[in-house]
Amino acid sequence: MVKARKYVVRKHFEGFPKRDDFHIVEYELPPLQSSEILIKTEWISVDPYQRAYNRKFPTPFDQFGFIVGTVEDSRKPRFQIGDKVVAHCSWCNYCIINPNEVNSKLDIVYKLPDLRGLSPSLGISAISAVGATAYFGFLEICHPKAGETVVVTGAAGAVGSIVGQIAKIKGCKVIGFAGTDDKVAWLQNELGFDKAYNYKTCNVNEVLKIAAPNGVDCFFDNVGGEMSSMIINHMNDFGRVSVCGSISAYNADVSQLPKAPILQLDIVMKQLKIEGFLAHRWLDRWPEAFEELINWILEGKIKIKEHITEGFDNVFEAFIGMLTGKNTGKAIVKI
Ligand code: NAP
Repeated sequence: MVKARKYVVRKHFEGFPKRDDFHIVEYELPPLQSSEILIKTEWISVDPYQRAYNRKFPTPFDQFGFIVGTVEDSRKPRFQIGDKVVAHCSWCNYCIINPNEVNSKLDIVYKLPDLRGLSPSLGISAISAVGATAYFGFLEICHPKAGETVVVTGAAGAVGSIVGQIAKIKGCKVIGFAGTDDKVAWLQNELGFDKAYNYKTCNVNEVLKIAAPNGVDCFFDNVGGEMSSMIINHMNDFGRVSVCGSISAYNADVSQLPKAPILQLDIVMKQLKIEGFLAHRWLDRWPEAFEELINWILEGKIKIKEHITEGFDNVFEAFIGMLTGKNTGKAIVKI
């Protein structure tokens, strides 16, 4: 019998999640049934959607999330003992999954792609839903052209840092906004952003007049709120906005969400395209993104940073750390 541990959400979050909103349940896993696989977790991903989707499910529920692990037992020929896999399951140290059961777009399990010597942790960071989000959400919605100006918010995070580097590969001028001076320095000095700013200490409107004197063509928005409206005010005719997320509001009181200036005049007069997306739209094409991202990483064109927290008992700390901006690059937990 395998003893497993998992995080269960027992109360819906109010404001920032609290340790007490979770409890860790220890239980014995049942014997494997036909088609099931037993996975031992090695890496756990903490992500903003785990905050944003919190109220979609009645409590108590297992805290969902992506993991990388190793198959320890299998009743499914496609998955052999010892295979490394990526799965969307729970924050757990062991789990049983039936790869045949696909009840929602979040029921995902696949073999870890061949990372050609890169760390398996990339299976929940750059070569994962995160990488696919950056790749398709930027390229398929913004259609960037060489010479265009691209703005990225949440620029030093998991998705944003990859988007900015893809934009550089495509020959764009890239401006990033992030929440600390160290992140700004990393974006400019190591990732090759043309300009980066600390949105907490700068006037977004004023710095864009200097950094983007000819206007903004593409905007990849991770943050939402007032900053997004300000950036959209600087868009050029036929600019494209990819709305990836709105983390500035995820921890807000749902009955009193922050207000932002209206955008309709800019959208109409500049004939903007503003499109939201979910990375799952391109799920069948994720391998395409993974292949290209692995190539770019190995060629040194994309640099990856992981913010690693150690220990199953510290998953909550990693989660709250990510929501409060402690991470540079992808926040993950090593089990
Ligand atoms: P991340 O950027 O690695 O981590 C979250 C970051 O958000 C923090 O590090 C923090 O950085 C920033 N942040 C927190 N509160 C903020 C606020 N009030 N204003 C501005 N920035 C704030 O996370 P990620 O996984 O890459 O996700 C980034 C965005 O993409 C999120 O909005 C997420 O929901 C979205 N997303 C969407 C999809 C999709 O399919 N559409 C898929 C994945 C992720 P600072 O220090 O810079 O504040």
